[in-house]
Amino acid sequence: MTDPRTAIVTGAARGIGAAVAKRLATDGFAVAVLDLDETACAAVVSQIEDAGGRALGVGVDVSDEAGCEAAVARVAAELGAPTVLVNNAGIIRDNMLFKMSVDDWDAVMGVHLRGSFLMSRAAQKHMTEAGWGRIVNLSSTSALGNRGQANYSAAKAGLQGFTKTLAIELGRFGVTANAIAPGFIATDMTKATAERRGITFEQFLEDEAKEIPVGRVGQPEDIAATASFLVSEEAGFVSGQVIYVAGGPKA
Ligand code: NAP
Repeated sequence: MTDPRTAIVTGAARGIGAAVAKRLATDGFAVAVLDLDETACAAVVSQIEDAGGRALGVGVDVSDEAGCEAAVARVAAELGAPTVLVNNAGIIRDNMLFKMSVDDWDAVMGVHLRGSFLMSRAAQKHMTEAGWGRIVNLSSTSALGNRGQANYSAAKAGLQGFTKTLAIELGRFGVTANAIAPGFIATDMTKATAERRGITFEQFLEDEAKEIPVGRVGQPEDIAATASFLVSEEAGFVSGQVIYVAGGPKA
């Protein structure tokens, strides 16, 4: 990297986002750790700083338009113009279609789709001005369909179309956009799914691993490694792609 660059990772206080934030800091980026609760970002910020990196914790709800604008402006002022954005913040509100409330639908669309749109729109000006940028959106194998996730699968499939359109619009400015579609990753999100199904997390991990060709569930660091490649200089000719990181070819 010629100059230190600034990356924003949303939903980075824990799980996949925290692993991506730490990995990008190791790669040499100054990293803005965004999450709903600013105090929840402190641990990841300290871990990055203790390892010799630069980081800033920012509290923001990515579904809030003014909040996204303010968060990106603060990152630009305090850390440097952000030219990398990883749209990772996410929630699940699983239910079978007949029991799914409008609130369950809207909440999931609000964080994943509206949130990725608002953050990308706010950050893109720094990328186009720099003539360089990288956007990575977190899709999911659920985009291919998943029982109990009409809202989430629709949002994650929508993010794939969003990603391809950003790639087409922003390519001429040196900006790439790609999506990572993780399979089963061991985080609080999948812990919540185990609780909903009434089984222990350990049992859930064991059951899932049996279905995955590489014989194990994914870890947040598996996604961080893929994000690290996609935001790198050498990935400049990879754009509009969806990379399934799922231990095999199928969801
Ligand atoms: P996680 O452990 O639940 O972490 C998600 C983070 O996003 C939390 O820190 C959460 O904050 C934050 N967040 C939620 N709503 C937000 C909002 N409106 N604004 C800002 N931050 C918000 O989830 P994860 O498993 O790491 O998942 C990360 C991403 O990968 C998500 O987009 C998810 O859909 C995707 N993914 C995960 C898996 C998997 O198996 N885990 C598979 C495929 C895709 P709070 O703690 O305050 O709620």
